Amino acid sequence: MTVAINFCGGARTVTGSMHLVSTDHSNVILDCGLFQGRRDEYYDINSNFSFHPGSLDACVLSHAHIDHCGNIPSLIKQGFRSRVHSTPVTRDLCRYMLPDSGYIQEADIKYVNKVNRKRGLPPRKPLYTKIEAVRSLRQFRPVEYHKSFPISKDVVLTFYEAGHILGSAIPVLEIKTAKKQIRIAYAVDLGREGMPLLRNPESPKDIDYLIVESTYGGREHGDIKEAERVLADIIRRTVKRGGKIIIPSFALERTQLIVYFINELIKRNKIPRLPMYVDGPLAVNLTSVFRNNWQYFDKITQEAFLKNADPLGYDHITYVKHVQQSKNLNHQKKPCIIISGSGMCENGRILHHLKNNIENPKNAIVIIGYTARNTLGRRIVEKNDIVRIFGRPHDLKAEVVVLDAFSSHADGDDIVEYVRGLNEKLKQVFLVHGDMEQSEALRVKLRGKLKLKPRIPAKGETVYLAAR
Ligand SMILES: [Zn+2]
Ligand SMILES: [Zn+2]
Repeated sequence: MTVAINFCGGARTVTGSMHLVSTDHSNVILDCGLFQGRRDEYYDINSNFSFHPGSLDACVLSHAHIDHCGNIPSLIKQGFRSRVHSTPVTRDLCRYMLPDSGYIQEADIKYVNKVNRKRGLPPRKPLYTKIEAVRSLRQFRPVEYHKSFPISKDVVLTFYEAGHILGSAIPVLEIKTAKKQIRIAYAVDLGREGMPLLRNPESPKDIDYLIVESTYGGREHGDIKEAERVLADIIRRTVKRGGKIIIPSFALERTQLIVYFINELIKRNKIPRLPMYVDGPLAVNLTSVFRNNWQYFDKITQEAFLKNADPLGYDHITYVKHVQQSKNLNHQKKPCIIISGSGMCENGRILHHLKNNIENPKNAIVIIGYTARNTLGRRIVEKNDIVRIFGRPHDLKAEVVVLDAFSSHADGDDIVEYVRGLNEKLKQVFLVHGDMEQSEALRVKLRGKLKLKPRIPAKGETVYLAAR
């Protein structure tokens, strides 16, 4: 009997998570994420699977971030006929995340075809459309946490809490062979202990093989209490000088987390009760999924919901869906907080808010998430004197503050502690979802502290866990 893992995507890089687990009787993929990168590479990698999608028995989805779920519509387009298993919350979040991604695919190809037309090149088709994304949701089958569920002839799936975003899970695959069982845990992405709103990551028992992320394998996040203090300071300072606070943020999880933190600061009288706007239909829709699934939050948050003290919305917060309402924010003269996407300032309504506010030294821009190289977000982080927005140069005069402690990914030490908490019989740890230098730093840590010899599989590499 043979059990093998082929690391098809998200290996030695952060995006495009996808791993194929094969046994004598079944083929199961863990995640089907979108690879994010330069356009040509993006279309090439995301349109070509290294296996035939029709040969799969199941797709197991860890959570609703686009680098984990975003290529499911392509998989289905290319012949996948089985089920996508996720937690119920992940399915609900995907109802908004996938069509939004389809919309972005169509908008991007529209732009490409405009350029192609001028060059006399043939038109191209989007990776998938919004309609195809909506259709793909029919193949989702939600599975509750801790309920073991057979997904193929010889594989049983159980979801455990990952503590990374709402609905995120550590899927455990139990593979039954004639003589024994092999248990594989997939902690990609893995959250942090003690983060507000979310439950802590769980440690499933008797794991033989662990696949774990290494995004921040070589880093330690700053102290969250300190970040909260810096956030309060910048808000107070900006209000005093009569400016606005602009916060670029990812629509899923980071937005809800920052809303929670600002609410807490107001409740504790650390900052004045000023108007706050969460601007963008995706963020607004995802926040409604959060509210409808309050039972999946941590105990404190559940109790707050039960007391009708919605931690994600008070009377001073306006959730903005419509474009005109968003444009009206330009006329808002008094201090306020505007939270909008995208987090890396590459597209979305945040561009308009930055364009209108970046040149005024009274204002502040607070960066709370990861910004990739060559993005507007990174240029703001690096405090370039002049930045281009919609192709036009703008002087960066607003105050810039960068807070990296709000990350929902485990850092190097968190991952070491997580691995330590699993059973001692762990046979192998595979480090994925990280740039090579971060994975390497984590490998050194795990080797030093736990005497383990983790592997950093290359993209396309196959590792045999059991062979005849
Ligand atoms: Zn994630
Ligand atoms: Zn991820």
